[in-house]
Amino acid sequence: LQENPLTYEGGGAVLADGTRMAMLANIGSAKDAEKAAAANADGVGLFRTEFLFLDREEEPTVEEQTAAYAAAFAHFSGKKVVVRTIDAGADKPLPFLTDADEPNPALGVRAYRTSWAKRSVLTNQLDAIAAAAQASDAKVWVMAPMISTVEDVEDFIGMCRERSIAPAGIMVETPAAAVTADRMLAACDFASIGTNDLTQYTMAADRMLGSLAHLNNPWQPAVLSLVGATCTGARAAGGDPEAFGDTANKPVGVCGEAAGDPALAVVLVGLGVNSLSMTPRSLPAVAKVLSSVSLEDAKRLAQAAVSARTADEAKDAVRAGLPILE
Ligand code: PEP
Ligand code: MG
Repeated sequence: LQENPLTYEGGGAVLADGTRMAMLANIGSAKDAEKAAAANADGVGLFRTEFLFLDREEEPTVEEQTAAYAAAFAHFSGKKVVVRTIDAGADKPLPFLTDADEPNPALGVRAYRTSWAKRSVLTNQLDAIAAAAQASDAKVWVMAPMISTVEDVEDFIGMCRERSIAPAGIMVETPAAAVTADRMLAACDFASIGTNDLTQYTMAADRMLGSLAHLNNPWQPAVLSLVGATCTGARAAGGDPEAFGDTANKPVGVCGEAAGDPALAVVLVGLGVNSLSMTPRSLPAVAKVLSSVSLEDAKRLAQAAVSARTADEAKDAVRAGLPILE
């Protein structure tokens, strides 16, 4: 047990030049929301909603969902909570929504795509999120996982607009979304990069297979390039660079595991992301390492990582520039 455990104070991680980076939490329940609030997270960057749906034979009612979302929002009064709509399929099968016999479930009808055949599960969920948001003081944002075309974006955003849900955005989890981010962001309000899936799909390596862990590594320069491409695309769509609060236009966050790795977090900031979202216990260490660099330092280290030959060389180059990690 550490005698002086690090804590995160809230109010954003402060870089050496005074730049503030919003530090958000990943949660999967109201209980997690309570813990995230206790850890001083500046908001929630990823609220995974699967907990309500898994191990069920039938869809939860709109009323049950509304109550569950409201219970989580209650811990973040006045703060941002980004709710992700249901991410079923692949590693999260659901008897009433997904097909158990797909040959390649990670490449199948998963996440947002399940709404093509059964639209009501997603629209019921959006009704519940809208009702819970209306009854809450939290700033509720909504995004869909596994988006790969502008048609996907327009379809999802249309459903949100019909319910006056705003801001409405997308997860960038496919290389397709990353390389067309200018058009994707032109059609929605924000993006959040899911580096876990973005890595799996960029490297064509199943994230469930331990034997492919060296490929399922967000330090892979190809993955980092796509993070950079997403930020560049967002700026082309009118996004504000170097605006780190809730007020940035077309903001890009990262909510995959990469955001909770202190050295990678520096790279993500240097690539131009507007916020980081992670498991609450990572907040103190990430904030501490960010405080040791200026935004210019982060940009320089990000360039070194993106242009490295290998994942190991990218990591070594960045760690060499972060003496605080020694
Ligand atoms: C991701 O893919 O990075 C992500 C945050 O979503 P999940 O891990 O739930 O697929
Ligand atoms: Mg994902």
